[in-house]
Amino acid sequence: MNRIYLDNAASTPMDAEVLDLMIDVLRSANGNPSSVHYHGRQLRAMIEQSRKEIASLIGASPAEIFFTSGGTEADNLAIKGAVATQGIQQVITTAIEHHAVTHPVEDLEKAGMKTVWLRVDSEGFPDLAQLETALQSGDKSLVSLMHANNELGTMIDLDQVARLCARYGAILHSDTVQTMAHVHYKLSDMPIHFITASAHKFYGPKGVGFLYIKSGTQIPAQICGGSQERNMRAGTENVAGIVAMAAALKKCYGSFEQKTAHLWNLKQRMQQGLERMVTGVQFNGAIEPGKSIPTVLNVAFPSDEEESMILFNLDIGGICASGGSACTSGSVKGSHVLAGLGHGQARVSNSVRFSFGVQNTEAEIDEALAKIGEFLHVRV
Ligand code: PLP
Repeated sequence: MNRIYLDNAASTPMDAEVLDLMIDVLRSANGNPSSVHYHGRQLRAMIEQSRKEIASLIGASPAEIFFTSGGTEADNLAIKGAVATQGIQQVITTAIEHHAVTHPVEDLEKAGMKTVWLRVDSEGFPDLAQLETALQSGDKSLVSLMHANNELGTMIDLDQVARLCARYGAILHSDTVQTMAHVHYKLSDMPIHFITASAHKFYGPKGVGFLYIKSGTQIPAQICGGSQERNMRAGTENVAGIVAMAAALKKCYGSFEQKTAHLWNLKQRMQQGLERMVTGVQFNGAIEPGKSIPTVLNVAFPSDEEESMILFNLDIGGICASGGSACTSGSVKGSHVLAGLGHGQARVSNSVRFSFGVQNTEAEIDEALAKIGEFLHVRV
């Protein structure tokens, strides 16, 4: 069966050229980058070249980029590291962050850290007035707010948040896993201390990412051992992954306008098609440009038995998408993000996230719409 992959926010397929490059590195790159002999030096040079390329693409300096095993590790390193050394007295975040943020914050809370879980509105935007009030408490704060939400696509005004945090001397971390390669960054101009990235969200390989740490911000390693990554992250580097990640990011930013326009076209085609076809369809989160990313459309189907089977039907029909619910060890838990918006159980369980990638086509969107129409017994 010809499957249509609309789950790119979970993971994008690897770009073919990036994959070829990665395989070349895996084949040819012998040795350990920490070795001082020829092979080690070759690998070290590849890592440092990749660091330079990534830094220049996001307006940072190479010394501010630290390679990790992905977004989860980068988020953990930033949050736990900041709390360990920055004299943090309160952590401010929301309940709709990725679990790579909420779980470390919950652990800190259990250990006695004061935490403030900001209210979010019905589209997933945090209450910035509440943020300011919390910052005014005078407690040294770590603020962690994701740039775009992975389930909703809602994108906050990170510049505004950064300015607010800077006014009160707060440390700011933003999970930028879903915006990296989809938004231009000039980090040298932003008062932000940490951002995170994961290569498999922008057509690179799984298992590699990075943490940006603004120069002058000191944090301790969370994974200890060798002195790799300037003592910030021990362990032999994933050289092929790092090289591939830099190439993938370069490729995304190299054709930014054209790819962004294509993704918006796909998202809006899906949105408009659903609006035409499904009476009572609603969208979770913000959907317009400027307030959301073009890769994610979270759809709340009108609640009745048939529609609650939509994900199952989609899978049978060859459409790969994600539910608003995640399946963990056999138990289906409702999405903490949709629940965090205050939606009831019916809407949580009837919501499906479609997420788009540059490889998707208009024809695929039309076919997905036709399949949905079949399940719902409506004409496209
Ligand atoms: N943060 C966000 C917003 C994500 O969407 C993801 C991946 O789903 C992660 C963090 C975790 O990244 P990784 O899969 O590289 O650990």
